Amino acid sequence: MKAIGVFPKTKEVRVVEHPEPVLQSPAQAKIKMLEVGVCGTDREICQFQYGTPPVGWDYLIIGHESLGQVVEVSPGVTRVKVGDLVVPTVRRGCPENCISCEQMQQDMCFTGHFTERGIKQAHGYMCEFVVEEEKFLNVLPPELREVGVLLEPLTITEKALMQTFLIQSRLHWECRIDPTGKTTSQKTCRTALIIGAGPVGLLAAFAFCNLHMKTFVVARQKAPNEKAALLAAIGTSYLSTEELTPAQIAERVGPIDLMLEATGAAQVSFEFLGVLGTNGIFIFTGVPALKKDAIPDGNALMRNIVLKNQVVLGTVNAPYEAFQLGIRDLREFLQKWPVPLRSLITARRPFTTFRGSLLGRQPNEIKTVLEFGTAVVTQEPQETVSLSFPGGSP
Ligand SMILES: [Zn+2]
Ligand SMILES: [Zn+2]
Repeated sequence: MKAIGVFPKTKEVRVVEHPEPVLQSPAQAKIKMLEVGVCGTDREICQFQYGTPPVGWDYLIIGHESLGQVVEVSPGVTRVKVGDLVVPTVRRGCPENCISCEQMQQDMCFTGHFTERGIKQAHGYMCEFVVEEEKFLNVLPPELREVGVLLEPLTITEKALMQTFLIQSRLHWECRIDPTGKTTSQKTCRTALIIGAGPVGLLAAFAFCNLHMKTFVVARQKAPNEKAALLAAIGTSYLSTEELTPAQIAERVGPIDLMLEATGAAQVSFEFLGVLGTNGIFIFTGVPALKKDAIPDGNALMRNIVLKNQVVLGTVNAPYEAFQLGIRDLREFLQKWPVPLRSLITARRPFTTFRGSLLGRQPNEIKTVLEFGTAVVTQEPQETVSLSFPGGSP
């Protein structure tokens, strides 16, 4: 089968002929890949900044934001069936099976010896077929065919929200964000600011709006622009850091209860941390390159964090539960905001044209998706899809 391979030693990225995987254990499914999203991580791997092939291979098949269809299952498989649309999770547990990995919380692995499909020592999803254990597969309802490839990038926000709900449980209940999104009464404590208007930041805006939070997105480019228009369509305000300083933004929007950083830029992030509100939570999701950077006034930041009971949190990868919550949310987004949601995917291209997508960026690009195949089995529409958590409820 064809796959996109990155050769770190010879610094090459090319289509390779890779052995088609076969079912090898009683609880596996074979998946025909339909689409794989391109993100900053893939581009950095293609620039050879990181990315490690599995032991014994000189290339890594990249890609971790996928959508596929099950074409074959082992006899012991119970949760997925042929024809199901599925999105596999990315991280696999450490060989030591630490307490987190043992509990299917590989995103919180203690040893750091985990692998990640398409990133670290495990082949990813930019290929025609994948075999995976069913416990790592999330089944999507057929109506999510068009936007299902957005699930993996959405899970960054879903995990951030899972952590936010835990942290906010320290506050009086009226002040917490309602995880069901049903409470619309405003006793404040629901103002959120997202730093960055890439796919992660924009998907976070959908999730926060869906929870009836007063949501703002800040990015460099001045409005009007296409992202500002997209955000306006879901009830979110767009502010430009070219026009306003973090202090001016805080003055304009009022006390900020939750900030989610989705830029990977330390300087601007710490500037915004300096204007986080009392009892606020700041969540870092970006991974900056290791180069010297001047961080603003540490004394003022430390004073604020202490005197305002602030929480600064970093989050990476996402557990199975976050994928399940993401499926629920994608369905809700699609019902509420079908056109803005679909417009996050700005290009679909055959995977053979990967070079332009992986090695460069297009103007006004949000999410580019590479196509690896078309669905082969048609599904009956389902009325309801219940959430399932192999390790029990979160
Ligand atoms: Zn990604
Ligand atoms: Zn572990």
